[in-house]
Amino acid sequence: MSLRISADRDRCIASGMCALLAGAVFDQDDTDGRVLLLDPIPRTDHTAVREAVETCPSGALSLTES
Ligand code: SF4
Repeated sequence: MSLRISADRDRCIASGMCALLAGAVFDQDDTDGRVLLLDPIPRTDHTAVREAVETCPSGALSLTES
């Protein structure tokens, strides 16, 4: 199974939860703190990625599974 992540930076409120939970996949912009997607198709850390998507307080993250 593969996961594809999408991040809507317009919805992001810079809480930092995603980077905290899955730092290999998500980071925060140095200037505004909003999400930076480092790896949109991660091969590992799927559990952490799912948790990050579910935990995001603004609904800025979404997953597609195939
Ligand atoms: S968890 Fe959501 S709101 Fe927080 S930085 Fe990540 S994408 Fe933005």
